[in-house]
Amino acid sequence: MIDPFGRKISYLRVSVTDRCDFRCVYCMCEDMTFLPKADLLTLEELDRMCGAFVRLGVRKLRITGGEPLVRRNIMSLFRALGRHLESGDLDELTLTTNGSQLPKYARDLALAGVKRVNVSLDTLDADKFRAITRWGEMDKVMAGLEAAREAGLAVKINMVALKGVNEDELTHMIAWCGERGHDLTFIETMPIGDVGEARSDQYLPLSTVRQRLERDWTFSDIDFHSGGPARYVSVAETGRKVGFITPMTHNFCESCNRVRLTCTGTLYMCLGQEDSADLRAPLRASESDEPLIEAIHRAIAAKPKGHDFLIGRGAAVSRHMNVTGG
Ligand code: SAM
Ligand code: SF4
Repeated sequence: MIDPFGRKISYLRVSVTDRCDFRCVYCMCEDMTFLPKADLLTLEELDRMCGAFVRLGVRKLRITGGEPLVRRNIMSLFRALGRHLESGDLDELTLTTNGSQLPKYARDLALAGVKRVNVSLDTLDADKFRAITRWGEMDKVMAGLEAAREAGLAVKINMVALKGVNEDELTHMIAWCGERGHDLTFIETMPIGDVGEARSDQYLPLSTVRQRLERDWTFSDIDFHSGGPARYVSVAETGRKVGFITPMTHNFCESCNRVRLTCTGTLYMCLGQEDSADLRAPLRASESDEPLIEAIHRAIAAKPKGHDFLIGRGAAVSRHMNVTGG
């Protein structure tokens, strides 16, 4: 799959549910309305969708949400997708999770072929954790990290940098991740979905964060690209990688290799644009995958050149992050 700007699409992110057991302040409002369950693709349909993308050249699948591990029977999807790893058609099957369900599932994920997980953790202070996630408990996430370690899963921590909330903890998080052997990625808040407060109150530009952190740590730029908006440095003191995801301050679109599928079968060709394609109708139209594959080709041919985020203008896109998946 090559888009009109010559970018090879080899990475699919799949949101398997818009629901979550947390209500993070930058992601959701407290009284979210979720999709009716009847609108969701079944796990078998999600498996078929992913299979079609793998056939078309996707080499990496990331399962996300909402919280992917709260979807009922989700392990059956991971087990099914694991077959593409065994056949060599897929290089990586991974997920982004808030970690709360890892005590239950870390082992099964490893058995399905998952090697690495991204776990979101914005603070190491239990009270702050509760304030940011509204409904989350830090102990459960810590138990999840321990379960991941026991299962042999490598963990990368995702930390959203929030002005006046956790900005005093960024340097400590580098040390903590260094001690525990985790890579770490800092993320700028993106204006995605109305969360009931002004985005400019949450926004902390990572360019200034990096300068501040360089007083405590020795960073060297490394030539490691995920095809996404992250730029990585290696930290001399810990030997680990630290990434900076800066959609607001840098343009990363020219190397974009990904598209995103929602749990209702809508394909978003860009996180920061409204352009989308319905893949549920062609999937359900036939037992053969041909109509679906044609629809995927049409969608890739319409992938926009780049995003248009601008803090201070309200939500650039109206759907919440839990719909498109992070
Ligand atoms: N529930 C899982 C989790 O929290 O990791 C997966 C889905 S979550 C939407 C994926 C990632 O998006 C998380 O790391 C989260 O911190 C991040 N995220 C959510 N809303 C965001 C926003 N408005 N700006 C930047 N990152 C956001
Ligand atoms: Fe849930 Fe993840 Fe959104 Fe937090 S960031 S509310 S854990 S989907």
